[in-house]
Amino acid sequence: MTIGLFTHPDMLDHRPGEGHPERPERLRAVTDSLNDAALALELYEAPLADPLDLALVHPQAFIDRLFAAAPAVGRAYIDPDTAMSPGSLASARRAAGAVVQAVREVAGGHLQRAFCAVRPPGHHAEPETAMGFCLFSNVAIAAKTAQAAGLKRVAVVDFDVHHGNGTQAAFWGEENLMLASVHQSPLYPGTGAEHERGVGNNIVNRTVRPYAAREAWRSAFDALMAEVDGFAPDLILVSAGFDAHARDPLAQQQLEDDDFAWATRSILSVARARCGGKVVSSLEGGYDLEALGRSALAHVRSLQAN
Ligand SMILES: [Zn+2]
Repeated sequence: MTIGLFTHPDMLDHRPGEGHPERPERLRAVTDSLNDAALALELYEAPLADPLDLALVHPQAFIDRLFAAAPAVGRAYIDPDTAMSPGSLASARRAAGAVVQAVREVAGGHLQRAFCAVRPPGHHAEPETAMGFCLFSNVAIAAKTAQAAGLKRVAVVDFDVHHGNGTQAAFWGEENLMLASVHQSPLYPGTGAEHERGVGNNIVNRTVRPYAAREAWRSAFDALMAEVDGFAPDLILVSAGFDAHARDPLAQQQLEDDDFAWATRSILSVARARCGGKVVSSLEGGYDLEALGRSALAHVRSLQAN
């Protein structure tokens, strides 16, 4: 099956600082790895998200603040982990725009599946707070876009090793939007306890301990996907972070490339049963370049299965 690949070289121009783990080379590692594998990909240029799209999740005052914060030279710090360089605003708008456009193409029947190779990531950005390397809440914005396009029930499967607090905050009172997140605890940002369920129990958090065995992670993921199946979504979005890989420097999980292929097959199995196989996945974390390239390839290759 042909997969839509949504990306743009402008996203190499977000430079949060020397030595920052969320570096431009991450995007290069992913796109090089996908290109080298000669997959059946249809390339789409990620557009700049319109402020009206961003406003599906973020208050206007927040959007105005970030638009004004991008510096002409040097770097502006939003929090100690999260900075904007001159290229960051365009990069962040294209990251959100990629997922929004991918959802529109899928909702319009032009594609069944897509992968968005983007940065900065989005799942830590809350409606009113940019944080944790994230500026706009890319996947949450895309979920609202899907609803506006007629896909009423949307589930986000977030397998990034960190909790998707931003998506959770955006979805908290939304009974037709589900967040299903597996993440390490304790770990940044400290949210995502299993008792955090949202209004209407639409939030499902499963935690794994540091140094958990791969089997423990898979077991947590199975439990998560059973909940997604029960939710019966019209579309599945994936917050695809690859930082639960054993090589990743920011967490202590033990996954290998194969585990991401396995998780992707599990997502597809629910997508086929519930929503005609429609899946839009977007890059979140993953900070070891080699593991990131290989894991993203394993993920996208698995997404191609009919
Ligand atoms: Zn992460």
